Amino acid sequence: MMNPATLEPSNRPYEECGVVGIWGAPDAAALAALGLHALQHRGQEAAGIVSHDGEKFCQHKGLGLVGDVFSDARVMNTLAGSGAIGHNRYATTGGTLLRNVQPLYADFEFGGLAVAHNGNLTNAATLRQALVKRGCLFQSTTDTEVFVHLIAISLYATVLERLVDAAKQVKGAYSVVALTPDFLIGLRDPLGVRPLILGRVADGGWMLASETCALDIVGAEFVRNVEPGEMVIIDNDGIRSMRPFAQTSPRFCVFEYIYFARPDSILEDHSVYEARKQIGVELARESGVEADVIVPVPDSGVPSAMGFAAESGIPFEMGIIRNHYVGRTFIEPTDQIRNLGVRMKHSANTPVLQGKRVVLVDDSIVRGTTSRKIVDMVRAAGATEVHMRISSPPTKHPCFYGIDTPEESQLLAATHSIEKMAEAIGVDSLAFISFDGLYRALGHDGRTGAQGRYCDACFTGDYPIELVDKDGRLVA
Ligand code: SF4
Repeated sequence: MMNPATLEPSNRPYEECGVVGIWGAPDAAALAALGLHALQHRGQEAAGIVSHDGEKFCQHKGLGLVGDVFSDARVMNTLAGSGAIGHNRYATTGGTLLRNVQPLYADFEFGGLAVAHNGNLTNAATLRQALVKRGCLFQSTTDTEVFVHLIAISLYATVLERLVDAAKQVKGAYSVVALTPDFLIGLRDPLGVRPLILGRVADGGWMLASETCALDIVGAEFVRNVEPGEMVIIDNDGIRSMRPFAQTSPRFCVFEYIYFARPDSILEDHSVYEARKQIGVELARESGVEADVIVPVPDSGVPSAMGFAAESGIPFEMGIIRNHYVGRTFIEPTDQIRNLGVRMKHSANTPVLQGKRVVLVDDSIVRGTTSRKIVDMVRAAGATEVHMRISSPPTKHPCFYGIDTPEESQLLAATHSIEKMAEAIGVDSLAFISFDGLYRALGHDGRTGAQGRYCDACFTGDYPIELVDKDGRLVA
């Protein structure tokens, strides 16, 4: 998978999607578009909105950033109605084919339904195979279409019953938003791996979104998290809640705090910014080092570097500057251009680095190639020592729950000891946050403390949701 910003194979894990839903607000589609814009970090390949104008579904989808897909006022005028759902996509499978862009909608004999989801079904291939055998014709390669077919063939009478029936057959991590002519639905998987929050827009309407930053952009008020395993149904009479699954211990994705979510979001009642800063504090306590300057790898390394600097008493400086205007695939990705990728995105701030012992703080090491280039760049700017501190434990396992990570053989930490990793990326020392340090930063006693667990499978290999397709060899 290529990283669209650097034209290189992905050197970071990538979030796959962001979702929004609006009910009972004039200009629902415009609010959805703004919400998607705030969630742009969760997916930059494509965006789509489906609204219902009281008589029919209206849709617009396109490849590219939200601002490009929904920039034309004539497009927005076609998305009438006071109910809408929207989706940002980061494509992992099936490429960026327009037919894979969500939301999907279908007219059934029981009425119409539009669906979008963030996450990944771990039994999608198994279900798809069974559905195809039954004669279902798939038009896309997205997991969302599995939901749509399961709803279509369900023997239950109402759309709500059919959605519950479908949800009970799927396994995986998902936050779903769905729209019918009569209501908006939000549904989170039983373990609540992916986020979904509920808000109130100013004129009395409701909003569902992956993160609170999508509420902030439209001035909506945070109401609460949709709970793990909860289905909320919002209509003109208000909101009601169903709990279709047996209760189980939640396992929210810990990587949302480390890297994926926007720092101004509040997820599961924790400020992402504060969590990142506190991880930096713990990291400094665990693996402090004598140095002259603490330098974040921007942007996601910034809050942790601030926490590291505050705890260690070493000055924080922006020794690396990120170019926010790096184009997407505007140049043909030849090998030569790919090798320039990091320089396009990051530049050394030489006066800050020259002659200094530098601590670089970053959020993760995936393949290690980006880290190597950054370290080389910092040394070339005159740093006398380069130490790297990472605000996550070593990423040793792929994610099957909606985050695009390379397979295990491509993960540097899966094949190298920490000493060998340090050699490979060319640093004088390398350290990662410990599991207990990470959990402490999030207000827990430690990983095995009484406050419960996160999903941390990409660090531990402890996958909390059955990997049906992987075990059955239906996925690569
Ligand atoms: S495996 Fe890692 S990235 Fe995937 S959901 Fe779990 S913690 Fe998040």
